[in-house]
Amino acid sequence: MAVDRFGRRIDYLRISVTDRCNLRCIYCMPAEGVAWRSHEEVLSFEEIERFAAVAVEEGISKIRLTGGEPLVRRGIIDHIGRLRAITGLEAIALTTNGTLLPKMAPALAEAGLTRVNISLDSLNPDVYTHVTRGGRLEDALAGVDAAFAAGMGPVKINCVVVRSLDQDLFAFASMTLERPVHVRFIEYMPVGGESEPTPGGSCASDTTAGDWTEADHVPSDETLATLIAEGLAAGYGELEAVPRGEAPGGWGPASYYRFPGALGTIGVISPLSHHFCGECNRLRLTADGKLRMCLFSDDELDVRDVLRSGSEQDLHDVIRKALASKPESHNMRIGTLRRMSQIGG
Ligand code: SAM
Ligand code: SF4
Repeated sequence: MAVDRFGRRIDYLRISVTDRCNLRCIYCMPAEGVAWRSHEEVLSFEEIERFAAVAVEEGISKIRLTGGEPLVRRGIIDHIGRLRAITGLEAIALTTNGTLLPKMAPALAEAGLTRVNISLDSLNPDVYTHVTRGGRLEDALAGVDAAFAAGMGPVKINCVVVRSLDQDLFAFASMTLERPVHVRFIEYMPVGGESEPTPGGSCASDTTAGDWTEADHVPSDETLATLIAEGLAAGYGELEAVPRGEAPGGWGPASYYRFPGALGTIGVISPLSHHFCGECNRLRLTADGKLRMCLFSDDELDVRDVLRSGSEQDLHDVIRKALASKPESHNMRIGTLRRMSQIGG
């Protein structure tokens, strides 16, 4: 069992398999895009699998693949099949924008993938196209359908709430009435926006994170209040809290609610308004082989060099070092060197 110096059990590893993406969400990537890393810089599937096996020996039991868009990386389905075969790994999940699921869901399910989180910020086609800078809502919705048709579950939808987007959050509520889908509203996070310190200089800023502004941050309590009021007005009844033990396949910090009789749930994730650092259970591996101990901290450990020139014991040591240096909390840091697409969410 892996336990860090604050007594937290660390059993969840998020692996970003690529920083490339077929969309350009406004809160995740800059308008001008990011320079893709070369193939040499990115870990091979073999390297990821080797690291994952060592991580499982150290106490990791759940892995989520993310990106960038993980489904754009060629060979991802076989990679999932090989990860699934790691002895001691209990579960594997995927976070995706869903647009490639219509084509890939059956093969992914066959490879053993059941848990899928699909990012979808609006059910209005124009807003969706605006947020993703060109994506089509019908593709993402077809992805949700494809996940269900392939027998996947739990199927979750991640919706990042950004005030200036004026999203119709309640439009998601009726989805949960009719289908066992779990819609999670995530607070917009101040990730990205910093630049490397120049020699003799300092970081670009400690008050901005890309396009993130305080004004765009909607606390989860406000989101919940809106859903409660609109649920009552629509005759859906009171939004009831789902007991923690009954959370839909939860490995993370979401609090879940349900309208009476609904097949699905509504969750809120509040990294800013309600710190959940005390319950943090995760490490993150970036596509270029850096181990991040905290989403909001740019402290990283190099795994790629160890994979390419170190021993098996060195790999174990790097994970132990990560546990020993994982910070207690993120202290509301604003801005990071990497954008979210380069960390994996
Ligand atoms: N491309 C995949 C997708 O969109 O699901 C996986 C990678 S994406 C970086 C992972 C998650 O991070 C998505 O749910 C996305 O909405 C979320 N995300 C990206 N930038 C964010 C931000 N600034 N604040 C909160 N969530 C963010
Ligand atoms: Fe791509 Fe996902 Fe980032 Fe959108 S949120 S740009 S789909 S990586």
